[in-house]
Amino acid sequence: MNDRQRKGLVIRSTGSWYEILDEQTNEVLKGRLRGKFKIQGLKVTNPIAVGDYVTYEPEKNVEEGTVVITQILKRENYILRKSTRKKWHGHIIAANIDQAMVVATLVMPRTSLGFIDRFLVSAESFRIPAIILFNKEDLLTEEGKALQQELMDLYEPLGYKCLSISALNSDNLNELEQTLKGKKTLIAGHSGVGKSTLINRLIPDVHQQTNDISTYANKGKHTTTYAEMFLADEEGTFLIDTPGIKELGIMNVEENELGHYFPEIREAMTECKFYNCSHTHEPDCHVLDKVRSGEIAESRYFSYLSILEDEDNRR
Ligand code: GDP
Ligand code: ZN
Repeated sequence: MNDRQRKGLVIRSTGSWYEILDEQTNEVLKGRLRGKFKIQGLKVTNPIAVGDYVTYEPEKNVEEGTVVITQILKRENYILRKSTRKKWHGHIIAANIDQAMVVATLVMPRTSLGFIDRFLVSAESFRIPAIILFNKEDLLTEEGKALQQELMDLYEPLGYKCLSISALNSDNLNELEQTLKGKKTLIAGHSGVGKSTLINRLIPDVHQQTNDISTYANKGKHTTTYAEMFLADEEGTFLIDTPGIKELGIMNVEENELGHYFPEIREAMTECKFYNCSHTHEPDCHVLDKVRSGEIAESRYFSYLSILEDEDNRR
């Protein structure tokens, strides 16, 4: 770095413009990228994503506060969505994520277990810890509460932290806030589950943060597919909203790899007879044994089969 260069965090990306939070001054600057950047042989629609750390310098002969990004610093991880049409094209949703949280609801609307499992598989494939946040607990009947507890008892032992709240009515969100504190958390979930309500609850001045960008972000027609990152406090707590992003996508998985992204299958498969067992029909498959005995939940195994089928069709 020469002395004109400074370091910052990309908190918004529209594909052509970026917002950079300066590491030292906490100023937010508009940045552009000059030149071409490639990512690991993959063509991406956006070379920079929210969560990226970059170096930048003031842009010459342009309005005050506009900068040029000179370098993207090494990523710890990133979430990439593959194009469904072109195999080697992709879109980086976010980089340097500490954890990913799926917001799920049992009512209005009901989130399917398949959706939750796909989310968890994506998180596993990117090696990002995952959290399941059940929202709208105020709407649950006794039966609904029991079902939610069953789901928590299914997912917690697999290593996924589960929380239950009402973004609208809980007067205490302490546990959630502690879980998010000081981390960059990607938030996903179907539309209608309460993501905006939650973000507004956690960051009361979030609208102020969004207004800045809307003036120029609206010029890009793909705005809604870009993740947005919000600073929640002075302690480095960031929330990343993913409007319009239905699925995170899964890294290229080979048939015999998918099992690795289900913790319970990962554990059971070490005892399968064949090293490349697909856990669908093979003899002496320990995974199938455990599905039959109920040690592996049927819903999880169905999700496994469903993803396997999709990946097959993609080939
Ligand atoms: P998003 O599409 O995920 O951003 O969902 P919204 O935040 O827009 O919420 C969708 C609807 O659900 C709105 O009418 C919210 O008021 C409502 N909602 C959000 N959280 C809760 C909750 O905890 N309880 C209840 N009863 N309604 C909620
Ligand atoms: Zn097997």
